[in-house]
Amino acid sequence: MTLMSLCGKIMGGMDTKVISINEDNIDIRLMEEAGDIIRSGGLVAFPTETVYGLGGDALNPMSSRKIYAAKGRPSDNPLIVHVADMESVESIVTSVPDKARVLADKFWPGPLTIIMNKSDKVPYETTGGLDTVAIRMPVHKTALAFIRASGGYIAAPSANLSGRPSPTAVRYVKEDMSGRIEMIIDGGDVPIGLESTIIDLSGDVPMLLRPGFITLRMLEDAIGHVETDPTIMSGDCKERPKAPGMKYRHYAPKGDLVIVDGARDAVIDHINAHASEEAGSGGKVGIIATDETEDLYRTGTVKSVGHRQDESMIAHRLYTILREFDDEGVTKIFSESFDSDGMGQAIMNRLLKAAGHQVIKV
Ligand code: AMP
Ligand code: MG
Repeated sequence: MTLMSLCGKIMGGMDTKVISINEDNIDIRLMEEAGDIIRSGGLVAFPTETVYGLGGDALNPMSSRKIYAAKGRPSDNPLIVHVADMESVESIVTSVPDKARVLADKFWPGPLTIIMNKSDKVPYETTGGLDTVAIRMPVHKTALAFIRASGGYIAAPSANLSGRPSPTAVRYVKEDMSGRIEMIIDGGDVPIGLESTIIDLSGDVPMLLRPGFITLRMLEDAIGHVETDPTIMSGDCKERPKAPGMKYRHYAPKGDLVIVDGARDAVIDHINAHASEEAGSGGKVGIIATDETEDLYRTGTVKSVGHRQDESMIAHRLYTILREFDDEGVTKIFSESFDSDGMGQAIMNRLLKAAGHQVIKV
């Protein structure tokens, strides 16, 4: 027994089995074992191309309840149902809108979640009491094999404790979920590192609820005009996000995070001045920089998210850096700001949430 599973056993009571799956040579026997756990109402964490998911049987209300309990997640925050084929989609919605078919053809399997009106087959425990259901068909081969082995419908939020950054590597899943669930499927690091784009097609006007790897431009190229939920980039608490989960202070690191926005040199000067002040009064400082600027900071632990131009890399590194700062006991984090076009919209959306919308303009 590993130290991690021993701690899990002492704290949570359950012994969590960890299996390793190679996406290019999937062990069918192990997949069936994971599928059996789901069919009997248990929970299994699994890799996807976005982040690790915490899976249960989407059609079993008890499984959804267990997911909320394992994560410590409020039960009005609906779960995304993961499927492996279009037939499964047809059976859990009242009808598939034309625009959903166009998006499915273009982006599925892949990092896009589509909200449609649910059929009676989906329990309200899974949709947080809503008459709509969020559906995604992941492209990760292990995720697809796991969904098929489990009966076809996996409800899965990200496999982190509520309020922590979504896990991009299995060590973070173990940190948060050992002792709380039956199994963790180790599939190595995830390729994208940010949660799926969410689009709502349940009403008359398509609405972007959460930005992600599939950008607004890509969606509009496929189906024409898409409205954007105004709360995506605003910290205004009076507005209510259309995706119930987006109202919570998600993705929060343990340290106090502030984004500094402005011209490059002014940002660097501001961070240097305040970082040394913070360190002087006993704080442990972390700085989120880029390859272009990392050598220009003088205080604290400086981590680069990558080149400014390489948004995929920035998206991929962001949660890992936040988790690393947690592990290092950082109490104050300063971050540079990023463009909010294209994938930058997803990066800034997550960063703003992690910072509780604390932005300093310089
Ligand atoms: P996570 O599972 O952590 O990736 O979060 C799922 C996100 O999808 C949350 O922000 C939910 O509020 C949102 N979501 C899931 N189902 C629906 C739905 N039927 N309507 C609106 N938002 C949804
Ligand atoms: Mg999440």
